[in-house]
Amino acid sequence: MTSAEILTTEGELVRAGSEPESVSWQQAMRRAIRSSLHLREQLGLSTSTESIPGISLAEADFPTFVPLEFLARMRPGDPCDPLLVQVLAAPEENREVAGFTSDPVGDGPARIAAGLLQKYHGRALAMPTGVCGVHCRYCFRRQFDYSDTADSTDPATDNMRPAWEPMIERLRESPEIDEVILSGGDPLTLSDGKLDRLLTAIESVPHVRRLRVHSRMPIVIPQRVTTELTTRLRSSRLTAWMVVHCNHPQEIDTAVELAVGRLVDAGIPVLNQAVLLAGVNDDAEVLESLCRRWVDLRVQPYYLHQLDRVAGAAHFEVPLQRGRELIAALRDRLPGYAVPTYVTEVADAAAKVPNGF
Ligand SMILES: *Cc1c(COP(=O)(O)O)cnc(C)c1O
Ligand code: SF4
Repeated sequence: MTSAEILTTEGELVRAGSEPESVSWQQAMRRAIRSSLHLREQLGLSTSTESIPGISLAEADFPTFVPLEFLARMRPGDPCDPLLVQVLAAPEENREVAGFTSDPVGDGPARIAAGLLQKYHGRALAMPTGVCGVHCRYCFRRQFDYSDTADSTDPATDNMRPAWEPMIERLRESPEIDEVILSGGDPLTLSDGKLDRLLTAIESVPHVRRLRVHSRMPIVIPQRVTTELTTRLRSSRLTAWMVVHCNHPQEIDTAVELAVGRLVDAGIPVLNQAVLLAGVNDDAEVLESLCRRWVDLRVQPYYLHQLDRVAGAAHFEVPLQRGRELIAALRDRLPGYAVPTYVTEVADAAAKVPNGF
């Protein structure tokens, strides 16, 4: 095996950037790695026995979930790999740190119906599922009560219409909402069929004009961007925008380039949001290269988020002052449209708060 090749549990060889077309995104979800010990084994990393209890505790709280497509972009043997650091359960997650809480962004009070949040004018955020295509250890939703998403029906029947009704009814009663943001979880973990039915329901609300899809799937499982998906989004009465989530240029391999290319070619504007993460992208060269890669691919860097102060993620925090320096460095090096807005999500604020720029 070369360094870019990984052997799966089934003994199948996965090569970074040359994913066989035959692996469907659903198969990719099913064969994802679900334990940090297995993840370490795959990368040839050892685990010291004294850290195992701390890791197990962290995983009991938020299980490991890493698709092989994402694993294949990590450097074997490197415990500091910037992709690995984002997804590897760590004993530090169990530390209690003052200021880091279970609902740092005030999602609880913003709930206006089951699976529907509104914090900002004109935009409502729908959470049709709690399922993600990867589990990011820094995620502010790691503490989220997903029993309150709209996908509470039996997945075996693939029929979730009744669960959406309160959400759609609430949209119908709110004429000021002209944009619905599908978030989660990850809305692209819904099947094309479910997504079609959800879109049809949203399209039936006359004052909704735009649909925004927030997803990490085009990055972690790029084969999720099917022709059926791009066609459905493009043919909607709603103007569809896509916001992908990628934190490091090493996350962008050929399959990701092709997937975002399919979206942009279909006429769907694509933006990227990133989270500023210690040990991952708190470096001017890394952020510059991330932004350059995206604009080369016709994707505009949208937000650079200050970490939400969720319990278990304190070790990822970068001081605001450092973040401001990094953005200043990007301003010196990049065209204006390639520089993301550096923001913090503040509970009760009328919008995301820009950090001094
Ligand atoms: C981030 C967020 C939005 C979208 O904000 P934009 O600034 O429009 O990207 C909308 N609703 C909620 C609850 C959010 O957290
Ligand atoms: S919601 Fe986004 S950031 Fe959080 S675990 Fe899912 S994919 Fe990762």
